[in-house]
Amino acid sequence: MFDHPSFDQHERVVFAHDAATGLHAIVAIHSTARGPGAGGCRFWQYDSTEAALADVLRLSRGMSYKNAMAGLPLGGAKAVVMIDASRPKTPRMLEAFGRFVDSLQGQYITAEDVGASVADMEIVATQTSYVSGLPRTAVASDGNPSPKTALGVYLGIKAAVKFKLAGEDLRGVTVAVQGLGGVGYELCRLLAADGVRLRVADIRPEVAQKAANEFDAIVCPPEQILFERVDVLAPCALGGLLNADTIPRLQASIVAGAANNQLATAEDGARLHAAGVLYAPDYVINAGGIISVGREYLGGATAESITAEIHRIPGRLTEIFARSSADNRPTSELADEMARQLLLEAR
Ligand code: NAD
Repeated sequence: MFDHPSFDQHERVVFAHDAATGLHAIVAIHSTARGPGAGGCRFWQYDSTEAALADVLRLSRGMSYKNAMAGLPLGGAKAVVMIDASRPKTPRMLEAFGRFVDSLQGQYITAEDVGASVADMEIVATQTSYVSGLPRTAVASDGNPSPKTALGVYLGIKAAVKFKLAGEDLRGVTVAVQGLGGVGYELCRLLAADGVRLRVADIRPEVAQKAANEFDAIVCPPEQILFERVDVLAPCALGGLLNADTIPRLQASIVAGAANNQLATAEDGARLHAAGVLYAPDYVINAGGIISVGREYLGGATAESITAEIHRIPGRLTEIFARSSADNRPTSELADEMARQLLLEAR
């Protein structure tokens, strides 16, 4: 474990097995320096335990960086649950997961992530109080963080367009949105209202068609959307899409989207920079959801205060863009450095 390429000074990595329900879960707690480790739980069919471990370690560190850069008094952690046909997600498995979370005594606060819903977290919450993103604590939504994430990404795209293209508004700007789920679809709504010309893709053709009808968007094949000739590429599906193979084929001058871990490796941030593409570091631009559920969990927030915090995302991005341009260094490298510094200060 200590030699794992993504270990990166994790405080704790805990494996849980529940024979009765088939639960195979890993919780990775990267840092509690700024507060309890907060990050969602992903239910996914992994090819191997090794793949699940690599995923949880990268996501957990990403949460430390995201929460620090968002100015939240929260550390970073994440959970993955390995599911498959023989071990499907069931209410009893969710309860077992809740007991596992409870056994960590508040060092880890869970929430929904890919493969989990607000309803699932309601079941988890029957076993532990260390859950965020629930309708009962929500002040600004029904507990679903996606619209808040979409708002932050929309504001981030505006900041990037202003910085790179000197555009004061988004009218006539072209944006390609990859993935039209909870975040991507809502992002299209916000962009379309500003007069953006949209290209969209989803592996669910009916959703892409719906977006086309509602937002006057052009539907692209999923394998082509990354390489469209547009101003902005907004990845809102899965991570790892920016790599040595895809970066040379990008035609967008800005990459700004919600997906976590968009860079396949740290070197891909340098590749984007060298190619003249302005990259909005994923964990900075996609913090709207954690700001919302984190503040709701911590208490004392209002709908207005949460929205105001999300409106600070573009300022943070602009600072990173400006430093990147002044120092001729990749935005991803600068963001990582700033986040690590915040963690160091908290220790
Ligand atoms: P989601 O599961 O609701 O939506 C993902 C969408 O992408 C689905 O419609 C899916 O069909 C589509 N998709 C998958 N593979 C695709 C491909 N190759 N090409 C085109 N479309 C594809 O997820 P979401 O909640 O909208 O989150 C999107 C991304 O943003 C994820 O990477 C997630 O980790 C990240 N994120 C989400 C939040 C949030 O608040 N939901 C917060 C931070 C980061």
